[in-house]
Amino acid sequence: MGDWFRTIVDTEATAEEAQELAAGLLDWLIADGYVVAERTDCVLGADAGHAPGPRYAEAVVEPDPGLAALWSNGLHITVERTVFDAGQGEPTAVTCPHCATEVPFVDERWMPVEGNWELFADAVHSWADGDDEPVACPSCGRTAPVHTWRWADDYFAFGRLGFTFWNWPELRPEFLAEFSRRLGGHRTVLLEGKL
Ligand SMILES: [Zn+2]
Repeated sequence: MGDWFRTIVDTEATAEEAQELAAGLLDWLIADGYVVAERTDCVLGADAGHAPGPRYAEAVVEPDPGLAALWSNGLHITVERTVFDAGQGEPTAVTCPHCATEVPFVDERWMPVEGNWELFADAVHSWADGDDEPVACPSCGRTAPVHTWRWADDYFAFGRLGFTFWNWPELRPEFLAEFSRRLGGHRTVLLEGKL
């Protein structure tokens, strides 16, 4: 089976802003009944989170009647410099922010393209520690900080603030728009994955 998750990542919040934004968004989600205020053991990868609230169904396209019975059904908020990833699977490609060339990591038979992932591996793995290594594009030769490259299927998202909904169905566009508005219009990435 496994557990699905959807994480809304704010890719622009600064370290100073992240805590306050997290608190403000949580207040809204509780006040409008999307999640409950109480923190319980209802998320993976963290001690506690906020279970779905009485109006959670209004946040999703098609409510799942089984969600309430799942153990992992809550919201976990990450306030920490993090490389969010989609869990299972591998990144398949990344696009250069300068020339828009796509750098593939796998070929059409899903075999690794030799050397391409190695261009990015160190920069991806060290970003959470505070580095932001420039990566040189194999096509145009220009460099760009690793967090500015566009990952296929939003496999990675680099940010200091993330809202992870465990096993929630697809989120409504209106809900995502309101989320983004309350994050001050910051660029957000919706990362969907599975553990
Ligand atoms: Zn390029």
